[in-house]
Parts: sequence; structure tokens; C-alpha cells
Amino acid sequence: MALMTLCKDCGAKIPYRTTRCKECTSKREEQLKDNTKRYNSDRYIRDKANEDKIRMFYVSNEWKKKRQEIVRRDSNHCIICKALCRYEPSNDVHHIVPLLKDFSKRLDNDNLISLCSYHHKQVHLNNIDNKNKLNKYINQLINSDKFVKKLLKIEN
Ligand SMILES: [Zn+2]
Ligand SMILES: [Zn+2]
Ligand SMILES: [Zn+2]
Repeated sequence: MALMTLCKDCGAKIPYRTTRCKECTSKREEQLKDNTKRYNSDRYIRDKANEDKIRMFYVSNEWKKKRQEIVRRDSNHCIICKALCRYEPSNDVHHIVPLLKDFSKRLDNDNLISLCSYHHKQVHLNNIDNKNKLNKYINQLINSDKFVKKLLKIEN
């Protein structure tokens, strides 16, 4: 007689070294699938709630006020262009740590910078989502620009 063992869920006799009978295995697979589905839909609802919160924030008066304050602080210049000794007007005020990552930094002056459209796009394309990455990025640009390097050396 072949070695037998018992199904973990219903106790039916099953071949040795298996854990569940066929029925319980497919029941369990269904359950896991349902759990994943439920998890994904919960996450979807959570993400959607966050997105709504962020959308509401961007049309709020506190943001409009803060935005103007940052533009004024940066003299309406893109801070990356400025580091490269170019003076481009800023078009956007950008959150260094994105709101989806940390909503509590939404009005934090330290987390806000003025950028031209070009650099704003680059920062997002390069996934620069904290200060370290931003500084690294700016230093790379300075180092790859011989003219700016020379200019900064003279000024120092
Ligand atoms: Zn079973
Ligand atoms: Zn720029
Ligand atoms: Zn941005």
C-alpha cells in the first residue's frame, strides 16, 4: 500500500508528501486570489483617496499663498539654472519629497523649490525625490559644464 497522509484542511486521505486534497487545494487557491483582489482594491481606494487629497491641496488658498512665497524667495528664478549661472524664470514650484511620499511636507519651505519647465521635467524623469539626490544631480550638471566650473572657480 502506498504511503498516505491527511489533508491539512479536511483530513481526507491523500498521497504522502502532499498537504491538501485536490478540492482543498483549489479552494485555497481561490481564497488567495480573493485576498489579492481585496488587497489591490483596498490599495486602489487608498491611492485614490491620496490623489484626491493632493488634488484638493493644489487648488487650495494655502498652496497659492505658499507658492507665491517660494517664487519670491527664489527671486522667480529656477534654482538649478541659477546653480549653472543661468537666469531662467521659474515656471513651477516643486516639492522635492513628493506629496504622495510625505504629505506633511506640503508647506515646508525646505521641501519647496522654484524650477523652470525643463528642469522640473528632468527632476521628475530622473526620480529625484529627496535633497541628496537633488544636490547630486546639480553637482553633476555643474561638473559636466566646463564653462560654469571655470566661472565658479574664478568667483571663489
Ligand atoms: Zn481536503
Ligand atoms: Zn532650470
Ligand atoms: Zn514637481
